[in-house]
Amino acid sequence: MKTFKIGGVHPQENKLSAASPIREAALPKQAVFSMFQHIGAPAKPVVKKGDVVKVGTLLGEAGGFVSAPVYSSVSGKVNKVDAVIDASGTRRMAVVVDVEGDEWEESIDRSTELVTLADRPELDGKTIVEKIKNAGIVGMGGATFPTHVKLCPPPGKVAECVIVNAVECEPYLTADHRLMLEHADEVLMGLQLVMKAVGVTKGYIGIENNKPDAISLMKERAAKYPEIEVVPLKVKYPQGGEKQLIDAVIGRQVPAPPALPIDTGAIVQNVGTCFAVYQAVMKNKPLIDRIITVTGKSLAQPSNLLARLGTPFQQLVDECGGLPEDTGKVIGGGPMMGKALLNLDVPMTKGSSGLLIMKEDEARRSEPEPCIRCAKCVSACPMGLEPYFLSKLSAQADWETAENEDIVSCIECGSCQFTCPSHRPLLDYIRLGKSTVMGIIRSRAAK
Ligand code: SF4
Ligand code: SF4
Repeated sequence: MKTFKIGGVHPQENKLSAASPIREAALPKQAVFSMFQHIGAPAKPVVKKGDVVKVGTLLGEAGGFVSAPVYSSVSGKVNKVDAVIDASGTRRMAVVVDVEGDEWEESIDRSTELVTLADRPELDGKTIVEKIKNAGIVGMGGATFPTHVKLCPPPGKVAECVIVNAVECEPYLTADHRLMLEHADEVLMGLQLVMKAVGVTKGYIGIENNKPDAISLMKERAAKYPEIEVVPLKVKYPQGGEKQLIDAVIGRQVPAPPALPIDTGAIVQNVGTCFAVYQAVMKNKPLIDRIITVTGKSLAQPSNLLARLGTPFQQLVDECGGLPEDTGKVIGGGPMMGKALLNLDVPMTKGSSGLLIMKEDEARRSEPEPCIRCAKCVSACPMGLEPYFLSKLSAQADWETAENEDIVSCIECGSCQFTCPSHRPLLDYIRLGKSTVMGIIRSRAAK
């Protein structure tokens, strides 16, 4: 069975919510919409205090080409347009809406009827990209890169295929798995729209072998589309990394930066993004909700919730039985790449794939011991880096050597830290070094 070639680890899967069907979360009393829900320029608010909005009303327009608009996921009245604390603990511009009723913009088709490309022969690639851009679609796997930008390859780069990332290799997370089981046809239609948008005739769906029900269902539903191939993959973390997935599915390696994944001819889109693309193009629905896994070993009801963007995390945890007494840490995302949340009064955003409630004993970190030069971190690194050395360079603030050692190629997968027998906080140091070196590179380029 296929997989990527360099490095990788096998953390415990802990997919506690895999059998929980998607459940609609209740509407919040107040919803908070950050203007920073994507990579790139923040959105610019276009509403003011007192404005009445509906589900689907534009709240913030895109702040540039690499940006995305933000829409209201609720109906009600704008309470304020002000800086509020987000999941990263930073104060950022947001629109706060007091919820009243649940009125939707009439332009949104709320029916569940499947609309196919055969129903919409007039749709051309340019129109599809424009609709995706206007709907505020971003990478739903957590990267939040604006999707329309990815669908417009730079001059000289040519797309040959689209690969759907349906790997969901992060332990605990099951939102993508449930999405495939419950919305297979919409995902396939989303993939076809992306293929049409970039003008390719080959599409792949990469799914890890720990989801046999999703593999067989997607194969069955895709059978009528000969241009789409479902590719079962051997379970290995971090197979959901873009470069690792391209290697696993089509056996091509993305060269070192500044090369891009498109240099292999592949455009990768998350399975949730394909679903959002379908809804945007065929149902006129902007990105206003998403599926999020709320899970943890002590949580009463690990779940997959379809929740409106802007809903406070606290409410989502309450819907799954409330915060357990033995909670040690809450992570936004999965345990390998997610980040600890400072509090639960922050809103869900476009990139919120999961909420993981870790017990005190799971959250406790072992005391770091000296490096024993075992090289396990080197063998685990899917990018072929030397994590022990990069973390040492970061600790010593030797940014020049860190840049020469290619610290910016780190995909922050955490495989090195996971595998280290000395419990060294490798990822923490490397993240710090990577962001510092990227800042240095950016300011050098701006001169
Ligand atoms: S976090 Fe970075 S250095 Fe560590 S294994 Fe992943 S890619 Fe390699
Ligand atoms: S895995 Fe840990 S102990 Fe082994 S070489 Fe890397 S940093 Fe050192």
